Amino acid sequence: MVTRLAALPAALLAALLLTVTACSAPGTGRSGVVVTTNILGDITREIVGDQADVTVLMKPGADPHSFGVSARDAARIENAALLVHNGLGLEEGVARNVEAAAGQGVPTLAVGEEVDPIPYAGGRTAREPDPHFWTDPVRVLKAVDVIADRVVEHVDGVDEGKVRASAAAYRERVEELDAWMRGEFAKIPEGRRNLVTDHHVFGYLAQRYGFEVIGAVIPSGTTLASPSGSDLKSLADAVRGAGVRTVFADSSQPDRLVRVMARETGLDIDVVPLYSESLTAADGGAPTYLRMMRANTEAVTTGLTDQ
Ligand SMILES: [Zn+2]
Repeated sequence: MVTRLAALPAALLAALLLTVTACSAPGTGRSGVVVTTNILGDITREIVGDQADVTVLMKPGADPHSFGVSARDAARIENAALLVHNGLGLEEGVARNVEAAAGQGVPTLAVGEEVDPIPYAGGRTAREPDPHFWTDPVRVLKAVDVIADRVVEHVDGVDEGKVRASAAAYRERVEELDAWMRGEFAKIPEGRRNLVTDHHVFGYLAQRYGFEVIGAVIPSGTTLASPSGSDLKSLADAVRGAGVRTVFADSSQPDRLVRVMARETGLDIDVVPLYSESLTAADGGAPTYLRMMRANTEAVTTGLTDQ
C-alpha cells in the first residue's frame, strides 16, 4: 500500500488525502442534522438552510420536558452526522437516546452548555443549571455561532460560506429582536416588572431585561414536578405581597394549577397564556422562535402594564 501510494503523482495523492480528511465520518453512512426541541430545530434550520437535511424530533406544541421519540426517530438519531440537543436536563424523555447516540460515536452538541448557563432563580431546583436559555436572545446569538461551527465541522458536503452567511443573517434578526424586546419592556411601569409563571421558565429573560421572578406555580424547573398545597399557598402570599395581578402560563400546558393558585390569592388575577417552551404549528401564534419571542414580549408587556 505504501509503495503504491508513493508511486502516485504528488498532486493526486494530495487530492486523495484532502477528500478523506474532508469527510467527517468516512464510511459510517451518517448524514443530516437531527435536533431534539422544535425551538432549536427552527434556529438550526435557519443556519443550515438547504445545505443538509434537518430533522426535528419534538412536535409543535409538545412539552420539551416530557416528549419521547419513536423507534424510527431513535434510528435517525443514531445515523445523524450531528445531533443538536438543548441539554442541561431539559429533554428528560430523550436523554437516554442522546446518550446512546453519543456512545455510538454520533457527534452531539448540548447547546445549553455552550451559552454560559445560570442556575434556576428559585424553587426546588435552585442552584441546578437552568436549561431555558432561549428566553434570552443574547444567549441565542451564542447558540447560533456554536451550531454553525459544529455543522461546518461535522456535516459532510455543506458549503461553509453559505452556512456562515445564513448564520450571520439570522444573527442580525436575533439582534433586532433583542433591541425591540428591550424597548417594549421599557414601557412597563417601574415596580411592575414581576414574573409569576407556571414553572421556572423565565430566569434568563428576567436576568437580561431586569424582571424579578416572584415564583412559579410548579416550584421547579420541570413541568414534571408538582406543587403541594403549601407551595400554592406561599406563592399566593408572595403574589399578594408583590401586588402582582397577572400571571403567565404556557399555552401547551393545562393551566388548572395556575388558576388554583390565582383563586388562593383571593384577588382578581389574570392568567395570560404564553409560548414559553414550544413552537406551534405553522398556523399557530408561534411558528418560529422569532415569532414566539415577539408574541411573549407583547403578552408580558401588556399583561404587566394593564394590571
Ligand atoms: Zn420548562
